[in-house]
Amino acid sequence: MNDAFFKTAARAFSFGFAGAPLDRVSDKREDLRAVAAMRERADARVALIARDMPILPRGAAPRDPLFPLSAVAALGGARFDALLGLDGRGAPVFAAMLADEAVEQIADRSDGFLDRRTLIVPGRDDLELVDLRTIAVQGLVSPAALAVLGQAKAILHWHARHGHCAHCGAPTRIAAAGWRRECGACKAQHFPRTDPVVIMLAVDGERCLLGRQARWPKGMVSCLAGFVEPGETIEEAVRREIHEEAGIVCGEVAYVASQPWPFPSSLMIGCLAEATSRAITIDGVELEDARWFDRAEVVAMFEKRHPEGLSAPAPMAIAHHILRFWIDA
Ligand SMILES: [Zn+2]
Repeated sequence: MNDAFFKTAARAFSFGFAGAPLDRVSDKREDLRAVAAMRERADARVALIARDMPILPRGAAPRDPLFPLSAVAALGGARFDALLGLDGRGAPVFAAMLADEAVEQIADRSDGFLDRRTLIVPGRDDLELVDLRTIAVQGLVSPAALAVLGQAKAILHWHARHGHCAHCGAPTRIAAAGWRRECGACKAQHFPRTDPVVIMLAVDGERCLLGRQARWPKGMVSCLAGFVEPGETIEEAVRREIHEEAGIVCGEVAYVASQPWPFPSSLMIGCLAEATSRAITIDGVELEDARWFDRAEVVAMFEKRHPEGLSAPAPMAIAHHILRFWIDA
């Protein structure tokens, strides 16, 4: 291992939600005076989220999703907020969850895969709510801003669903500049959760295993994935998930890369797994289909010329990069 190795690795992967450019200043979170002073700074900015959807200014991409702190009061105030960190110039960046009433839902065409709620900020034609997946796929903000929005959405989502103590049921209050909740009754402390998910490509020589879920858009295939369970290593989770979903037995497992995935708060852990069996048995629950594909077929998917119209995951997803890593290896 040397510097060149790490530089090569860093260049090889540039997926969505990774690489937030903020210094998280975790040592400042308990310092109430320092955090209060950050809120007073004229250069402080905030990512705004309402009902789990980021608010963007209208305009040409890349849009700047960070607003001056005064925008929070102008939109009716925040339910709660969190200090995300300091940007490269030392300016504080916060994330604020607006009141649900600050926005209005005028339509909902969600299909179980894509969030297609149409939300508006009444009286503010200069603003637009766009779900984070669409922001990522359409490149509406820079990669660095996308990572900040992902951080904002994950932490605010956690607060929105942890208003009560998981231990005794009493209300909890926010602490540590948004990075902890405390129960006033039983004194339990609760920390933001990140759920580890393994996402892996089983490989049999020159072929790899891809599957599809029924709820996915037509023609889309991808790596298999599943949550790591308590008491399990990453490698064990990879082998178990592939066996459960496709009936394939795997031996060696190698880590490739990881990606924060704020839907709502996962960490995708990308791996390659060496298949030691070949006959596929679909579980019919997670997957509706799975097949072995050779390199040429995967390349055809990337180039959108697969004869069956199959498509590979978008570059914002780690699955895309695991596939490219295997093709290039
Ligand atoms: Zn409690």
